[in-house]
Amino acid sequence: MSAVIQTEDELRAKLAEWQKILRLQDWIINVSIFRERDMKGENRCGEVEWTLEKRMASIRILDPVDYPDGLMEEQDMELTLVHELLHLHLVTVTPDHEDELRHCALEQAIDAISRGLVALKRGLTG
Ligand SMILES: [Zn+2]
Repeated sequence: MSAVIQTEDELRAKLAEWQKILRLQDWIINVSIFRERDMKGENRCGEVEWTLEKRMASIRILDPVDYPDGLMEEQDMELTLVHELLHLHLVTVTPDHEDELRHCALEQAIDAISRGLVALKRGLTG
């Protein structure tokens, strides 16, 4: 898959599109591009923080300058955006980080679903 790099404006447009597709329009969500040093976690393409009661969330997407060379995949910001959005549907069933097995299973499920959705939207098969 080739790289999908977007500006913050383009990401905001994608966010609106995906909020609609994923039925997350009642959330107030912002998306921004962050340098790795400003992200909360390490080695991440994206991260999301939420306040469920207010249905507010912030999504941070890794700045392409910090995307490592030589990975099996090129950076795909839209895919990362969809991944982080799917987390919002699963807030109430998200296990603690200490529960590594379930946490890993959740990440894998979100990863598979986000890839499927993005591939469908782009009209790709196989
Ligand atoms: Zn995740």
